[in-house]
Amino acid sequence: MSTRHAARRAKLRQRIREQKLDALLVTNETNVTYLSGFSGDSTWLLVTRDHEVLISDSRYTTQLEEECPGVETNIRTNKVKHSDAAAASVHKCGIKSLGIEGHSLTIEQGDQLRECLAGVMLECMNWAVEELRAVKDADEIAETRVAVSLAARGFDYLKAILTPDMTELQLSHELEHAMRRFGASGVSFPPIIAVGDRGALPHYRPGDRMIGEAATLLVDWGAQTRSGYKSDLTRTLVTGKLTRKFEKIYITVLEAQEAAIAAIQPGARCADVDAIAREHIRKAGYGKYFGHGLGHGIGLNIHELPRLSPISPQCLEPGMVVTVEPGIYVPGWGGVRIEDDVLVTRDGFEVLSATVPKSLAASVIRTNR
Ligand code: ZN
Ligand code: ZN
Repeated sequence: MSTRHAARRAKLRQRIREQKLDALLVTNETNVTYLSGFSGDSTWLLVTRDHEVLISDSRYTTQLEEECPGVETNIRTNKVKHSDAAAASVHKCGIKSLGIEGHSLTIEQGDQLRECLAGVMLECMNWAVEELRAVKDADEIAETRVAVSLAARGFDYLKAILTPDMTELQLSHELEHAMRRFGASGVSFPPIIAVGDRGALPHYRPGDRMIGEAATLLVDWGAQTRSGYKSDLTRTLVTGKLTRKFEKIYITVLEAQEAAIAAIQPGARCADVDAIAREHIRKAGYGKYFGHGLGHGIGLNIHELPRLSPISPQCLEPGMVVTVEPGIYVPGWGGVRIEDDVLVTRDGFEVLSATVPKSLAASVIRTNR
């Protein structure tokens, strides 16, 4: 049995005891992966105070044996509903009070659970596993480093092959292909590759714009490792003539980002880190052009706790990995975003993506004409 997953379940048991429940039924698939190592889907994990059961079906019998050796399984047949199989495990373990993940169950699943668990007290234990996931262990940090380095290598390749006649979609494909060739299991999310004024749309989807059609290129991308850990980076490149306006906006974003990163340390309030970048951008006169939060945790999901935003209630802790990604988006003109992945260390921070250049000079690149 994997000691790393057992250690995570031990932390969860502490939470279950604190909430005075007998068990938690983990139904969020990413949370099941985090707590058990199982990488498939359609599987729930019942964690009691001293035991655990994976509830799945026969498609996964072999995979469960391989990925979760030593963990009890309840493999339902195709005549049994998933919720009924879960209820059988709950009853078998003598559970009287059960935590459920109300934030990720559908209303239908909730109704089914209530029906087949009549007599068991159900109580929401929302975000409990996600809160544990916010603080990465050594294995997760190592995986994230790999995800960042795969993304960095992919971006180096991308910059080397840029030509004015390539489209956003072609670049997106080349970037994904390169990262997969280097060993990624895929992208963290479909890359955002935005030429010129399209950069003003923070979650733009690449289209047929050609690189040579405008002077700037925003690239937001990430790689995923085989075990599912993700990186998330953004760089804004100048592929044509550098203008005074771009220079001013770029420097403003870069300074805002660096000031916010410098404030990262254990105990810092996430909302305060956000405010540092936001205030810098506001003072430069671009306050209304920075609408989104400063950053987010990354891990098995691309957006995890903690959130760096004005309304985030959280404080940073050693082991958290967050993006820091201020941006200025001017409709009709374009946008600049600079995003790095930052590890909170015992005494401050480490920029995991420090090898990806972001000075203004480094962002002005020559395309192969
Ligand atoms: Zn991003
Ligand atoms: Zn991001």
